[in-house]
This record gives sequence, structure tokens and C-alpha cells, in this order.
Amino acid sequence: MSRPITHVGVLGAGTMGHGIAHVAAFHGFTVLLYDVTLQAAQAGLAKIQKNLDVGVDKGKVTPAQRDLALSRITCVDQLSAMAPCHLVIEAIPEKLALKQDTFKALSQIVSVDCVLASNTSSLSLTEIAAAATHPGRVVGLHFFNPVHLMKLLEVVRAFQTSEETLAAVQAFGETIKKELIVVKDSPGFASSRLGVALGLEATRMLEEGVASALDIDRAMELGYGHPMGPLKLGDLVGLDVRLAIAEYLYAETGSPTFRPPQLLKKLVRAGKLGRKSGEGFYRY
Ligand code: NAD
Repeated sequence: MSRPITHVGVLGAGTMGHGIAHVAAFHGFTVLLYDVTLQAAQAGLAKIQKNLDVGVDKGKVTPAQRDLALSRITCVDQLSAMAPCHLVIEAIPEKLALKQDTFKALSQIVSVDCVLASNTSSLSLTEIAAAATHPGRVVGLHFFNPVHLMKLLEVVRAFQTSEETLAAVQAFGETIKKELIVVKDSPGFASSRLGVALGLEATRMLEEGVASALDIDRAMELGYGHPMGPLKLGDLVGLDVRLAIAEYLYAETGSPTFRPPQLLKKLVRAGKLGRKSGEGFYRY
């Protein structure tokens, strides 16, 4: 029987890690925020403080809630600090070997009933789980950016994930007020598979001159109620990131849906990666 979750470890204090630490602390969990240097972990904590300050300014968070959430977070730079955790969520770079090595090392530090979760957006949870001892405790917790604002939490069930682990993370997800979907480990899960398919088709339509980027986006925004069209979203995510996921999905599924369009490859080769480089489908 796994212990009730009170202590949550977050590995990686970058774009996703700091957001995960934010929501966990805000909803009452004691959080250990780990990064390779204390400075990196503290930079993540500073971003959490900034986002909570915005919440206070907008009247969505009280100053007392902000202070309490911040008091629950401790920054660490030693993996051994994860020892008291009941749940560890990794949000380190999207590299299979790095995630496997980390889960292997963690297995020696935490107790056998500590749940090990990965925030991977595309890698096989089953392969990640295979690197841990007691792989039944490994599961995917795929959050969305920005974590403190996006409602969806995609729970990904590896081939090895036990019922007990699934129940534990479902209870955690409800406590942090996310809307959960449960998906079997498969390439792209539900969210990336559908989102990337739409983005690639929009790219092919732009390539064929069907309409301008703006009008393709407006078709989805105004006709389907998407908050952001697929090309704008690609620019936000990063076209290099989108291309890498498309290549992975194409290799895994063999489906022409995921064959990377020439236009996407050309933009990436030209260093036009979207918002982060100042130009992608649009200029910024
Ligand atoms: P990021 O580059 O912003 O942050 C990664 C952090 O991990 C950095 O702070 C880095 O210092 C740290 N790090 C590097 N090696 C480490 C190690 N060995 N141990 C601990 N920390 C280490 O990346 P990100 O965008 O937050 O992505 C993290 C994970 O979340 C990836 O698996 C990614 O696919 C997934 N994800 C990203 C998004 C997104 O929109 N950015 C959305 C969903 C899921």
C-alpha cells in the first residue's frame, strides 16, 4: 500500500518544473525543487514568486496563500534530497537516456513505494519505466505550459504502471485541481498526437498556398473555437521542437500524417524557430 502523498519532489526547475512545483505547493504539498545547480533551482523559485505576485495583483491569490505556497518549497541540488518524497515528478530535458539514468539513480534513493512520474511530452513511458526498480510505480504526468494556468493533466499509463500508482496520481491530480485524462502509453499520447497532426496539416496547407498563415489560423480560431491557431501554436512551442516530435511520431507509426513537411524542415534549417528566434511562420 503506498503512503499518502505529502512530499513531492520536482526534478528540473525550467519551463515545466517550476510550474509543477508551483501548483503542488499552492495546493498544500511540501515541495523539494531540484536542479543541477542551486542557482537554477532558485531561478525556478523566483519565477514561481513572480507568477504568484501576478495572481495577487489580479486578485486571484491572496498574499497569505502566496506566502504559504512559497514557504512550502525548498530548493536543492542533490538528488539524495529526494529521499523523503512520496512522489517525484521529473521535468528534465527530453532525452531518453537522461531520464532512464535519473530514474535508475532515484530508485536507489527513494523508498520502494515512492511514485516516479515523468513529464515527457513524447518519449515511451514503458522504456523509461524499464530503467527503474519496481517499474509498476512509474507513470506519465504530462502537464501543459503554463502549468499554473492550463487545466489539462494527461496521465500516461506505461505497460508496467500498477493500478495503485494510477489511483495515487489520479488523487494527486484532483488535489492540484487539474482535469485528468488517462491515456495508454503510445506515440504522442492523445494530446501531442492530435495537436501535431493538426499543426503538420496546417503547414502543408501553407506550403500548397491554400491560404495565408493568418487565415489558416483564423479558420481554427473562429470556426472551431481554438484559442490559438495551429501555426501560431507551432511558433510558440518552437518549430525545432515540433519537427523533432514529428520525426519521432513518423518513425514510430510510419503514418504519412506525421511525415515532416519540407516547409517545416526549411524553416528550422534557416534558424527560423518561431517566437524564440524572432521568426517562424510569423515575424515577431
Ligand atoms: P527546460 O529546458 O525549460 O528545463 C529543463 C531543466 O532541467 C533545466 O532547468 C535544466 O537545468 C534541468 N536539468 C538538465 N539536466 C538535468 C538533470 N540531469 N537533472 C535535473 N535537472 C536537469 O525544459 P522544459 O521545457 O521544462 O521540459 C522539461 C520536460 O517537460 C521535457 O521532457 C519536455 O518534453 C516536457 N514538456 C515540455 C513542455 C513545454 O511546453 N516546454 C510541455 C510539456 C512537457
